Amino acid sequence: MHTVYLSLGTNLGDKEHNLLAAISEIARRIGPIKAQSAFLETEPWGFESRNTFLNAAVRVETELSPLALLHETQQIERQLGRTEKSVPDPQLGKVNYHDRIIDIDILLYDQLQLSTPTLTIPHPLMNERDFVLIPLKQILPQ
Ligand code: ADP
Ligand code: MG
Repeated sequence: MHTVYLSLGTNLGDKEHNLLAAISEIARRIGPIKAQSAFLETEPWGFESRNTFLNAAVRVETELSPLALLHETQQIERQLGRTEKSVPDPQLGKVNYHDRIIDIDILLYDQLQLSTPTLTIPHPLMNERDFVLIPLKQILPQ
């Protein structure tokens, strides 16, 4: 079994419902939820939007490999209705972020360090983002 920390965010529609639906799909497809943070309202990060975010973090036990885990989190994002991906814009030289129904990011996977074109663990931007760190700290053992 592996211990995984996931970050969740949403800034469209019924945000509390979106987080709860994502968490219930995580439990069904990935593994049991061992800890869940409070839901935290935050301002958009990296782009302009009228829609504030609701963020959370969960600790999950799973038998999935890192890439299988990414596949499942992306399936859940699509199932809940996410369409746009954040893509680097070579002309602007930055990432284009969008409003989203749900974003699920993999923060930590055991003590693993991984760097592949599709998956980097620990999540490279987690230390810059209070909206990730505040919920994460609520559920880290120490
Ligand atoms: P963001 O979360 O930055 O808004 P996306 O959710 O659209 O952007 O993800 C963009 C890509 O980031 C995904 O397609 C995925 O391959 C990649 N990625 C790399 N590392 C991770 C990670 N630790 N967790 C989730 N996605 C990751
Ligand atoms: Mg993401």
